[in-house]
Amino acid sequence: MSISTQIKIPDTSKRKKIETVTIMDVDFINLSQKEFVRDHIQPLLMNQEKCYIVTANPEIVMKIREDRGYQEMVKQATYIVPDGAGVVLASKYMKQPIKERIAGFDLMLDILEFANREALSCYFIGAEEQVNKKAVEEVKKRYPNVRIAGRHHGYFSVKDPEVAERVKLSEPDIVFVALGSPNQDKWITNNLDQFPKGLFMGVGGSFDVLAGEVKRAPDKWIKLNLEWLYRLLKQPFRWKRILKAMEFMIRIIFKRN
Ligand code: UDP
Repeated sequence: MSISTQIKIPDTSKRKKIETVTIMDVDFINLSQKEFVRDHIQPLLMNQEKCYIVTANPEIVMKIREDRGYQEMVKQATYIVPDGAGVVLASKYMKQPIKERIAGFDLMLDILEFANREALSCYFIGAEEQVNKKAVEEVKKRYPNVRIAGRHHGYFSVKDPEVAERVKLSEPDIVFVALGSPNQDKWITNNLDQFPKGLFMGVGGSFDVLAGEVKRAPDKWIKLNLEWLYRLLKQPFRWKRILKAMEFMIRIIFKRN
């Protein structure tokens, strides 16, 4: 297990060193969700520091392994969060157990909860226009004190500077980017330098769940580490992703990193 200051963008002097577990060259934080939010996210938001969060499951680890450009982007992340039962399983197999899986969706809700408490402002980029709108409506309902800095659907070129310009003008505390990977990471890393502050997080299909368009697995399935199976049954077109997750496990078992 390696102890490292994985924090590259913000001022690390005020923050505790963070324990990480490295799986296939990806340094995952090894904290419970509660610890992560309490000891890192909340102070960082209160200090108006900048941070970039990647939530990675086995399929994303494989993508990072295979794509040098993606690797370079993820290297800029302040925190890489273990989102996926497979990552936790792999860490146990490697005898460097990660404390718990932190699902990107759950982390997003915890951040919104804190934003609600402190009346922070959030920008929501990504998903189809109707889904984006519905997700933001849901945020307004569930978290009435969150200030909506703005929103934009996700069907634009990540190289187009216009969306970034709009986001910058709104000076948000938090920017959720739901473009799927690696596009959300491309957008964040292309623009991060231009922002003086802000928590930037890639949230994949989370707006679809927030808007009620896609259902998350029932709690029982999540507790049994079977969320991936539920997703596969509901969205069978995702079968290729499961193959990648299987390849990940095979590489871990046979030490073919
Ligand atoms: N999406 C988008 N722009 C695109 C492609 C996708 O905004 O050009 C959105 C899509 O509508 C969905 C999310 O990105 O809301 C990706 O969801 P997915 O479940 O594929 O995310 P992942 O599994 O990659 O985290």
